Amino acid sequence: MSTNVRSTEMTQTDERYDVMVVGGGAAGLSAALILGRSRRRTLVVDAGEPRNAPAAHMHGVLSRDGMSPAAYLEAGRREIAEYGVEWRAGKVTGATPDGRDGFTVALADGTAVGARRLVVTTGLVDELPGIDGVAERWGRDVLHCPYCHGWEVRDRAFGVIAHPGMPAHQALMLSNWSKDVTLFLHTADELSAHDAALLDAAGVTVVAGEVVGLVVEDDRLTGVRLADDRVVAREVVFVGADRLVPGDSVLRQLGAALRETPFGEFVAVDETGRTSVPGVWAAGNVTGPQEQVVNAVGLGYRAGVAVNNELLLGDLEDAVAGRPRG
Ligand SMILES: Cc1cc2nc3c(=O)[nH]c(=O)nc-3n(C[C@H](O)[C@H](O)[C@H](O)COP(=O)(O)OP(=O)(O)OC[C@H]3O[C@@H](n4cnc5c(N)ncnc54)[C@H](O)[C@@H]3O)c2cc1C
Repeated sequence: MSTNVRSTEMTQTDERYDVMVVGGGAAGLSAALILGRSRRRTLVVDAGEPRNAPAAHMHGVLSRDGMSPAAYLEAGRREIAEYGVEWRAGKVTGATPDGRDGFTVALADGTAVGARRLVVTTGLVDELPGIDGVAERWGRDVLHCPYCHGWEVRDRAFGVIAHPGMPAHQALMLSNWSKDVTLFLHTADELSAHDAALLDAAGVTVVAGEVVGLVVEDDRLTGVRLADDRVVAREVVFVGADRLVPGDSVLRQLGAALRETPFGEFVAVDETGRTSVPGVWAAGNVTGPQEQVVNAVGLGYRAGVAVNNELLLGDLEDAVAGRPRG
């Protein structure tokens, strides 16, 4: 065990898994399913806060459209158990190379577990704008993704709170789902002439002024309040997160290379999810914010297959070379 992990008070257990999957959302459970089916001794450790938990229903997932996110993950946990994959509620606080081609992984409960390979699928956190009511209504009638929820609220009165970086974009998209869209410029600068023309063509109404809160009556969104106390009647509000914060502390601690994206820094991975750290893969929203559930599932699957292939061929190469197994 390396000093980094040993420095905290921990109980080292004798468990050594082929693979530890850190995070048990869509990406992690998908990786675990294929690893279990590949007869890999696999442990999933999950802190239990998937990104879409505030939403009652999940959409755009073929054959599971409209299912609740919680029921979806519960079904996934049942499936991985069928193949002997272990699942543990908990939070991974760090991982360090163990000097024998694997890792010692520290959990918040003070235990340490060994694993030959890691698949990190820890998702991201949406840091919401501090507008009164946004956090409370998030995933209900404050939404961010037309593909996830647009159909369910089609033709209703939409308010869109402009993102300072690309103020017109979301309102233009949403004009496909309702003909009653109001764009609140909020803190965005004035629109370019081109954006103004596109919004006009899309029939979007533009309202200047800072948004300070949402009006809620009988547990239902009814309006958007501006700083000058005007209230514009709206039924649904779309707004993006101020910041998307990847849950990448374990990857950063391991020294994984990052890449710059329009949404900030995310871990750099190849097409199989392999990071720059040997033996460590990543998949799902921890690698980028645009991965919806189906994409996260696909990326998790791909990482699981790549990890199994590497273990299998690596062990055979070691056997041929007469090297001791890691
Ligand atoms: C409100 C909302 C609604 C959405 N609706 C839809 C929809 O309808 N359809 C759709 O396709 N997509 C939807 N999405 C996007 C969807 O949430 C993501 O695509 C999906 O959650 C990505 O899966 P993931 O496995 O990468 O991450 P997550 O599902 O976020 O899972 C990550 C897991 O890792 C755990 N974790 C984090 N850190 C640690 C740690 N250190 N140790 C152990 N565990 C850890 C977390 O607690 C969590 O359980 C929605 C998003 C939001 C915000």
